[in-house]
Amino acid sequence: MSKIKYRDGSKIEVMQIPVGTMANFTYVIADRETRKACIIDPSWDLEKLLEILKKNGWDLECIINTHTHFDHILGNEQLAAVTGAKIIQHENSNQPGDKFVKDGDIVYLGNISLKILYTPGHSNDSVCVLVEDRFIFTGDTIFVGNCGRVDLPGGDSRKLYNSLFNVISKLDGSLIVYPGHDYGKSPTSTIKEQKETSPILIPRTEADFVKFMSGDD
Ligand SMILES: [Zn+2]
Repeated sequence: MSKIKYRDGSKIEVMQIPVGTMANFTYVIADRETRKACIIDPSWDLEKLLEILKKNGWDLECIINTHTHFDHILGNEQLAAVTGAKIIQHENSNQPGDKFVKDGDIVYLGNISLKILYTPGHSNDSVCVLVEDRFIFTGDTIFVGNCGRVDLPGGDSRKLYNSLFNVISKLDGSLIVYPGHDYGKSPTSTIKEQKETSPILIPRTEADFVKFMSGDD
C-alpha cells in the first residue's frame, strides 16, 4: 500500500498518492462543499482512487492530464468509464480526451477554480494546473530540485526555458508545488523554495540553459 498524504485547505482537499514503479504521483483534488472531485494523472492503483472517492462521497467530475506520456494517462479510460468523468488535456495532445484546453483556460470544480498554464518543454502538451492561488500541479515540468527531460519526442529546451523562467519563476512564491514524480528530497515544495534551491531555476541565459540541459555545461 502506498502512503496517502492529506493537505488540509479551507475548502480544498488535496491527496498526493504515490503510484506505480516510476515514482509517479497521482492527485485527487476535491471541493468539500460541493463534493466534486478531479483526479490529476491517473495511471495505476485505480481501485484505491475509487475507494477514496467512495469513502468521501466525492463525485469525479474530471480527469486532467499534465501531459500525455503513458505514465500520466494509463488509467484515463478505465477511470472515465467507471465514473463518467471527462478527460481534459492540452489542445496539442494527440491522445483521446473529451475537452482540450489552452493557456489561461479555467476548469471549475464546484467552487474551486483550476487554471491551466501552458508550460511546454518536457513535451509539447505539458501544462501546470494552478488551484486557487494555493497549489500548483506541475507534472513533469518541474520536480522538487529538478525538471523533466527534454530528449523525448516533443521535448524542447528553449520552450522549457521559457516555461521555467517566464511562467513558473513568476508565480507567487507561497504556492505549494505538487510534482508529477517523487524525484526530490521531499514530495512537495514551494515556488519560493525551488527558486532558492533548485539548480534548474538558477538564472541563466537561454543559450546557457540549452547547454546545461544538453549536458555540455
Ligand atoms: Zn513525462
